[in-house]
Amino acid sequence: MADRLTPEETIKLLNLLEATLDAIPDGILALDLDRRIVAYNRQYLRMFDFTADQLRQGGIDWIIQALAPLIEGRDEVLSASAPIWSQPDHDSLDEMRFKDGRVYERIISPNRRGAQVLGLVASFRDISHAKQTEQALEQHRAFLEKAQEVAHIGSWVAEMDGSDRLGWSREAHRIFGLTATEFEGTHEAFFTRVHQSDRDAVRAASDAALEGTRPYDIEHRIVRPDGSVRWVHEKADIVRDDGGAPLRMIGTMQDVTERRLLEDQLRQSQKMEAIGRLAGGIAHDLNNALTAIAGYSELAIGQLAASHPARADVEEIRRGAERAGSVTRQLLAFSRKELLEPRLFDVNQTISALGRLLSRLLGADIEVRTELAPSVPPILGDPGQFEQAVINLAVNARDAMPHGGRLLLSTAVEDLDLVSARANMPMAPGRYIVLRVSDSGHGMTPDTLAHIFEPFFTTKEPGKGTGLGLSMVYGTLKQIGGFIFADSEVGRGTTFRLYFRPAAARQPDSPAAAAAPTEPDSEGRPTVLVVEDEAAVRNLVASTLRKEGYRLLLAGSAEEAIEIAAANPDGIDLLLTDAIMPGKSGLDLAQELVSRSPRLRVIVMSGYTQDTLSGLNDSVELLQKPFAPRELRQRIRVALDQAKENSRLR
Ligand code: ADP
Ligand code: MG
Repeated sequence: MADRLTPEETIKLLNLLEATLDAIPDGILALDLDRRIVAYNRQYLRMFDFTADQLRQGGIDWIIQALAPLIEGRDEVLSASAPIWSQPDHDSLDEMRFKDGRVYERIISPNRRGAQVLGLVASFRDISHAKQTEQALEQHRAFLEKAQEVAHIGSWVAEMDGSDRLGWSREAHRIFGLTATEFEGTHEAFFTRVHQSDRDAVRAASDAALEGTRPYDIEHRIVRPDGSVRWVHEKADIVRDDGGAPLRMIGTMQDVTERRLLEDQLRQSQKMEAIGRLAGGIAHDLNNALTAIAGYSELAIGQLAASHPARADVEEIRRGAERAGSVTRQLLAFSRKELLEPRLFDVNQTISALGRLLSRLLGADIEVRTELAPSVPPILGDPGQFEQAVINLAVNARDAMPHGGRLLLSTAVEDLDLVSARANMPMAPGRYIVLRVSDSGHGMTPDTLAHIFEPFFTTKEPGKGTGLGLSMVYGTLKQIGGFIFADSEVGRGTTFRLYFRPAAARQPDSPAAAAAPTEPDSEGRPTVLVVEDEAAVRNLVASTLRKEGYRLLLAGSAEEAIEIAAANPDGIDLLLTDAIMPGKSGLDLAQELVSRSPRLRVIVMSGYTQDTLSGLNDSVELLQKPFAPRELRQRIRVALDQAKENSRLR
């Protein structure tokens, strides 16, 4: 018969078969229906660490015994594969997991001849490495997902192949409030969830990024299915092919809603603080003027007969001043300002220290230079507020130099004659310390320049400018008793000029020292020491009290008052002092004098309310500005009665 093989041929064929089996990288084991081993290959022995003898002697039962302790979930494996072993009429695939971490894939197939099943062939493949990689990948993915969840940062991939596909990470879904099945996974589906007012901006940003003109970096709002609005910050990179055509966009999105809320709150509170400071500064100045107006009108009324035609008019003036006084009181209460801490400081020193800070604050492309006068006389004010004012000016300068430039801070001492003082209207002639803050920025139109000190005036986009920076500077300058001017032209930069009186020059503003020991010393008359830096108020108080017959000592500053007190040991019954004055404050003065003569009564005059004036003690009371002379007279009388009572009890 032609298809009969000769014994040599059969042996040849068997050898070939054996060689083929051994060449296969999978382990192979074949059984017949009586569970006898009919074939295996070398790889099988190697994979399970068996010897040919062990198989020959032990057969399949020995194999199962030998493997049992090594395999994880053995019982399940056995029971699941039992029907296959016993009736192998279809292919089956499963995994064998070893306790040492190896994983083999096992395929069992029936060995058929025609329709008849003769036995089965099992093949084993080591997939440990693939499994490990898969596991590491899974771990990595879980880690990334957790990190995104913690940071509220989602990620996304947008295909640019025309398929419109957009893939989101789990956190991205969470940010949008959508489940994986609810999001359709397309650009269009994304855009429908972008807040309507932001859609154009997002499209424009993405177009610009694809054209390569601007990186994709945008904050915009999205709307969740429940209607709530969130803010997200998106950034993305574009992957391009060799020709530069975009393949895909890979981006992140961060939920920044909380940060935006905080920023809004901060901006709001900064606004309130700025207005408060401005209001406080203005109210403080205004109070002194109102005290004088109300006081003098009352004095005038006292001299006018009831029938005098001017009397009703002057009464109106007084009522007007009182009404205005209640407004300034409200302003001060609203501003809730702590007392300023005026002290002597050197502008040169402050500016040179600030210059170093500013060059860091403004960034590398702005050159900060200082040019200081050899020496400047000290000025009196709150140095912290002064610094803040200069910082505000510097920040404005930076905003005016988006592409870098130069900021120059220079100081000088200048004597202003009558002519130039008149040109700078509110200023009196005399010596001034001048600080110039110049930038090489874009400058201002005359129209802008006319409004810059107004609260809320800004040319910056919403969210960038508050329009309060210069209002604050203005308020601070008013409190220090300085002046500010701006010179600017479009394209030519801007220079702010700040003028301050030297501290010593402010004292002659008060001719009090000369007038101090005017009253003849006479027995029995109570002595009142009046300390007030504002001449108008001091004179008003003096003319009111003089009529009452008190003996008066007048001082224009706390320092002067201390000298007067030293010259009148035990001779002062009452100290009437302003709270805030250049140099030592009225409160400090009171403390010092009371510690020397404990019987001294003290009345502090101030626009501030009791609770903002900390440090008032029992022997010190507050007279709120503006006040009317009759109130002053009454308060002095009560305080002096009290003093008399005290000395009688002693
Ligand atoms: P903001 O800076 O919040 O706008 P400011 O009160 O600090 O408020 O300034 C008001 C406006 O004055 C600014 O919006 C700007 O138009 C203008 N301005 C201030 N400083 C400068 C400067 N150095 N150069 C050009 N313009 C300035
Ligand atoms: Mg500003």
